[in-house]
Amino acid sequence: MKWNAGLQPATTRSIDMKLLLFDLDNTLIDRNGAFEYWVRRWLKKRSHLPGRPMQELGDRLIMIDNGGHTDRIAFCRDVCVQQLLDRPLRTLFLKEMHTFTDSILPDQTINMMLRKLTQRFSMAIVSNGSQKMQRKKIYKAGIGPYFQHCFLSGELGYAKPDLRIFKKALAAYGCSPHQAMMIGDNLKTDIVPARRLGMKTVLLSRTPVMNSPADFTIESITQLESILP
Ligand SMILES: [Mg+2]
Repeated sequence: MKWNAGLQPATTRSIDMKLLLFDLDNTLIDRNGAFEYWVRRWLKKRSHLPGRPMQELGDRLIMIDNGGHTDRIAFCRDVCVQQLLDRPLRTLFLKEMHTFTDSILPDQTINMMLRKLTQRFSMAIVSNGSQKMQRKKIYKAGIGPYFQHCFLSGELGYAKPDLRIFKKALAAYGCSPHQAMMIGDNLKTDIVPARRLGMKTVLLSRTPVMNSPADFTIESITQLESILP
């Protein structure tokens, strides 16, 4: 865990913090790990495929997915342009892709931490994605009981970094921005908009980030407790 420049721990600890807002993908759940696991298993089942080696094919599919930021149409187009899978397989891959969420498993360390935090804070999830997919991920990770609300772009019609999704969450709890903290792994969609509103921010990054605008940077979500007031 790092204190970012210009912020004193004592100052932060005196804040009247009431609400914790969490991103979901790659913050509370290992979305990319689950996707990669599913892709490689899916390819392995079709190891008779001619052409590229399985490892390379998997690497390319994971790269095109871009951590879930590529939509289905763009994904299909790129797989087609790069000639990775022929048409019947591409159709099958896209049809079955959503089942990668079955690979998400509860993380007992994270869930224990969340359970403890519910005793001190109100907590909600603020996430981009479809209602069906995000709700299933939450269910599979077993974290639903720890959050009173989930603010999902697929349900609301606007997505992070749109400030409305953060304002909606703050309004639901009657909190002002300085009483809330946003925790997420994406600077553009989690940290920058939350800071614009005046919230405290925690960036989850497994690699060093230069000049991060976040108040804190942690390498693992389980380090969150150590920076909370
Ligand atoms: Mg994320």
